Amino acid sequence: MTITRFAPSPNGPLHLGHAYAAIVAHDRAKRDGGEFLLRIEDIDGARSRPELAEEFREDLRWLRLDFREVAPQSQRIASYRDAADSLRAMGLLYPCRCSRAEIAATATRMGPDGPVYPGTCLHAPIMPGPGVVWRLDMEQATDLCGPLSWTDERRGEQQARPDLFGDVVLWRKDAPASYHLAATLDDAADGVTCVTRGADLFQATHVHRLLQALLGLPEPVWHHHPVLIEADGRKLAKRRGASAIADRRRAGEDGRAVAAELRAGLFDTGISLSDYIHQAA
Ligand code: GLU
Repeated sequence: MTITRFAPSPNGPLHLGHAYAAIVAHDRAKRDGGEFLLRIEDIDGARSRPELAEEFREDLRWLRLDFREVAPQSQRIASYRDAADSLRAMGLLYPCRCSRAEIAATATRMGPDGPVYPGTCLHAPIMPGPGVVWRLDMEQATDLCGPLSWTDERRGEQQARPDLFGDVVLWRKDAPASYHLAATLDDAADGVTCVTRGADLFQATHVHRLLQALLGLPEPVWHHHPVLIEADGRKLAKRRGASAIADRRRAGEDGRAVAAELRAGLFDTGISLSDYIHQAA
C-alpha cells in the first residue's frame, strides 16, 4: 500500500505552495488506494506556533484532502536521541562549536545548503556540552556504506551524493534533531513508502538515503514535485506576502474549487511551477 505524508512546520500559515504539496501527496496515495498522513514538524522551538496545527487540519479539510494524523515531532524526541546515540556509538558523530561566521570564512566550497563545513572540529578536542552541535563524519559514513542509490519516481535512479553536503549537523543546539535526522526517522516510523516533497529538497534526499543505510531503515521511493514560484523566480513564501489559505477559507472561498485549480495548474497571477533543482557548485 502506498503511504505518503504532508509534513508542514507550524512556523507560519499554509499558502498555495503548501496546498499544492499536500494535494500531490494526497493524490499520489489515493491513486493506489493508499493512505495520506499529516505530520506536524514542530521541533523548531523558537519559531514553532502550536496553535497553527489546528489551522493546518482545517485547511486540509477545506481542500477536501482526507488524512490520518500521526504523532508530531515534539513527541518523538526519544527516537531521535536513540538514533543519534547509535551513530555516536559507531564513531560517526563529532561535536562542533564553530559559528556560522567562522564556517563562512573558512569554507572552501558551497553545498546545497550553503558553505560546506571544512571539518575544523573533526580532530579538535571539543568538550560536549551546551552550545555544541553534533556533525556526521561524512567521509567515514560514506566509506562505511559504500555507493548508494535511490529512486525518484519522476527522474529515475540517482547516485546518492551526500558528500556534497559535507559534515552535516544531525543534532542541533537550538532544537533537538536536525531536519535530516528527524524527517528520515519519522518517515520510517510512519511506514511512508513514497516520500513526496518539493524539488527544492531534491538534494536533501542524498543525506536521507545515507542515514537510512546507516540506521538500517527501510528505503522508500521519492517523488519530488515542482514548486510554486513567484514572477521573480523565487519560491512562494509567506514572508514575501504569499497569501495564507486560511484567509481564503475564512473569506468563504470554495476549497474544493481551489484544489481543482491547483490540480489543473491554474495559479494566481504571476505564480507558476518550477521543476528546477539547484545544483551545488
Ligand atoms: N517540514 C518540512 C517543510 O515544511 C518538510 C519537508 C519534507 O517534506 O521533507 O519544508
